[in-house]
Amino acid sequence: MHAQLLNEARRPLVPAELPTPRPGPHQLLIAVRACAVCRTDLHVVDGELVDPKLPLVPGHEIIGIVVEKGDAADRFAIGDRVGVPWLGWTCGVCEYCRSGRENLCDRARFTGYQIDGGYAELTVADERYCFTIDRRYGDVDAAPLMCAGLIGYRTLRMAGEAQSVGIYGFGAAAHIVAQIAAHQGRRLFAFTRPGDVAAQDFARSLGAEWAGDSTVLPPEPLDAALIFAPIGALVPAALAATKKGGTVVCGGIHMSDIPAFPYRILWEERVVRSVANLTRRDAEEFLALAPEAGVRTETVTYPLDRANEALGDLRSGALQGAAVLIP
Ligand SMILES: [Zn+2]
Ligand SMILES: [Zn+2]
Repeated sequence: MHAQLLNEARRPLVPAELPTPRPGPHQLLIAVRACAVCRTDLHVVDGELVDPKLPLVPGHEIIGIVVEKGDAADRFAIGDRVGVPWLGWTCGVCEYCRSGRENLCDRARFTGYQIDGGYAELTVADERYCFTIDRRYGDVDAAPLMCAGLIGYRTLRMAGEAQSVGIYGFGAAAHIVAQIAAHQGRRLFAFTRPGDVAAQDFARSLGAEWAGDSTVLPPEPLDAALIFAPIGALVPAALAATKKGGTVVCGGIHMSDIPAFPYRILWEERVVRSVANLTRRDAEEFLALAPEAGVRTETVTYPLDRANEALGDLRSGALQGAAVLIP
């Protein structure tokens, strides 16, 4: 099968011909129809996330069709369409797994990081971590739901009952979260790279009542702020934009260092927290909610052999919405 392979961090992916993977007992062999490109892929390729499996097939926002099953796989039938997310396996016995926090599992394994992912014609995945995708979504449209959507949703949930929500970094996750937030009747404020008028217009088109540069304060203090851009300096900026008791949620897996900031912007019971990975419950909730909320995804497609170009466009901020690879 054709795949795009990471042999070494900080090097471009290379095209490769790999043997057809065989499904283990609980695994499915899946013909990949679409795989979205996540910022986490960029962190792996750029060496900011250490110790990936090497060589590695990246990609963890996979939509595909089951073509073969392992002996113990009984949740899906041959021909079913499934989605494969970042969470690829958990131990089931550690204190986190036993307390409903499998996203923090001590021995978790992640798709496109410790497990070969979807930048390929075929992939294998443990069926216990695969999901049915609503018929209302095409393969390309559904792909960004699998991480930008899922982890974006978890990030929004960590903001609790916040009515006014700021979003820093208006990319793939934000464009989905904005629609969920609007559906829930929340008020949305979007912060983009200074001067990125196109992203600000995009945010307004998805329901933001205000959009502006990340360097300015919003017109009023916010109940919560979500940060999707991997820029540590946004943490104090977001704290300064929130009300007393407000929450700042960092939705990414990697961020540049957070600069020192005065305690007074954290005081008055403001909270800074992060979000790590997803649970299967997050996926079930979000994948049921997205079609009900009418969530649509904005995508730019690339053939699989142009994966490096897709990663480059994400790195440079040239994309509106999500990049999706088609094998
Ligand atoms: Zn565990
Ligand atoms: Zn991701």
